[in-house]
Amino acid sequence: MKGNHRAQAVPGKTRARSPSVRQLAQWDHQYLWHPFTQMQEWVQEEPLIIERGRGCYLFDLQGRAYLDGTSSIWVNLHGHRHPALDRALKRQLGKIAHSTLLGLSNPPAIELARELVHIAPKGLTRVFYSDNGSTAVEVALKMAVQYWQQRHPEAGPKQRFLHLNLAYHGDTIGAVSVGNIDLFHRRFKPLLFPTLEAGPPYCYRCPLRLTYPSCGMACLDPIEELLKSHHRELAGLVIEPLVQAAAGMIVHPPGYLKRIRELCTRYHVLLIADEVATGFGRTGTMFACQQEGVTPDLMAVSKGMTGGYMPLAATLTTEEIYQGFLGKYEEFKTFFHGHSYTGNPLGCAVALENLRIFRRERTLLRLRPKVAALARWLEPLTTLPHVGEIRQRGMMVGIELVLDRVTKTPYPLATRIGHHVATEARQHGLLLRPLGNVIVLLPPLSVSLAELQRMVAIVRSAIQTVTER
Ligand SMILES: *Cc1c(COP(=O)(O)O)cnc(C)c1O
Repeated sequence: MKGNHRAQAVPGKTRARSPSVRQLAQWDHQYLWHPFTQMQEWVQEEPLIIERGRGCYLFDLQGRAYLDGTSSIWVNLHGHRHPALDRALKRQLGKIAHSTLLGLSNPPAIELARELVHIAPKGLTRVFYSDNGSTAVEVALKMAVQYWQQRHPEAGPKQRFLHLNLAYHGDTIGAVSVGNIDLFHRRFKPLLFPTLEAGPPYCYRCPLRLTYPSCGMACLDPIEELLKSHHRELAGLVIEPLVQAAAGMIVHPPGYLKRIRELCTRYHVLLIADEVATGFGRTGTMFACQQEGVTPDLMAVSKGMTGGYMPLAATLTTEEIYQGFLGKYEEFKTFFHGHSYTGNPLGCAVALENLRIFRRERTLLRLRPKVAALARWLEPLTTLPHVGEIRQRGMMVGIELVLDRVTKTPYPLATRIGHHVATEARQHGLLLRPLGNVIVLLPPLSVSLAELQRMVAIVRSAIQTVTER
């Protein structure tokens, strides 16, 4: 890597009455509690305070520029301050910021629902809004359980869920119940409802010690066994399609999801696809399920839904499930669920424009050469002495660092190897947020080839600096 990548300060801009950088840093330490953050450590360091953004860059209060290597934690698609998204938000603000979907409707919520149905896997025809990925998953779980009670009471109580180990579906209690990332979840075990769990297709560390494709995806056998013996009590199977993101970007082998779909159909268990991370082009297609021609029974979306502008989510489902909730009022088949900001017009207006940008700018088409270039540039990193595996699907990349490549011995979590790499990358103007020993690179879909190349170069040198020192 050549040149000095330390970002230059942008002169100008005086901040007359706004608090100073030092004042803000002090107030942050005094009043804020940051998510997934050890605050005792946080308060010992100068916080990086982001003031502005443009395209793939974030700017701190001193005007230093950083590449947004995580898409602001997996939400941004078309870059920051996209003129059309800014305009859509302002236009809606000129009408109304919020009114409720409880007993009322609003144009952006209506139009967006129609658009979502058009782009969703065929057969998903109904849209139920909420505010974030976790709530979208909660909605799917509750819909599944109530559906079986109302539509097929003769089926007996189908109210349990099957999911994969290392799954992540959000941080609320239902979503945590169907997930299992030990570090995040173990404290809350006493609050969780019981579930059935199967091993994930984590090919790099295959518990069956087999290799794809000669394994014939033998890891599906235990799932079929569970379905066979428990389908009478199972409401649904919950899965992150194609990529188990929070587990460290575990990329499922091709054909896996399709087989899961077939198994769910055969055993009358609803397939709940959590597309919160994978949705809206992140894996190269609008939704990950579409790469395998799969239509889930319920689909949760959020993160990229507004292009990274506003908190908004939706649970999409089929006519069959929707019909299961119809009846006279006094049958009380209503889906009794909703949030204060459900169908928020600002969020829906910007989400609608997000989808228009996909069409206007041919986002998915223009993504293809970037995905290919990214793969090409990452390839040489596979020979670095502490890179175990590089996993990529579309614009999602996980680089798993290991102490020893031959034995695949992981770095002990306490060494915080991923964190050190991210800290090093920041010195060179790239913001990353690792998942344990996995370096995550998740650029906005609008990233330029030059920006992408620079991100990979910084990631490479940061990994080398930290693991080879
Ligand atoms: C981020 C994420 C969630 C949770 O979404 P929030 O908006 O953070 O509640 C759920 N599922 C998956 C797959 C995610 O990546």
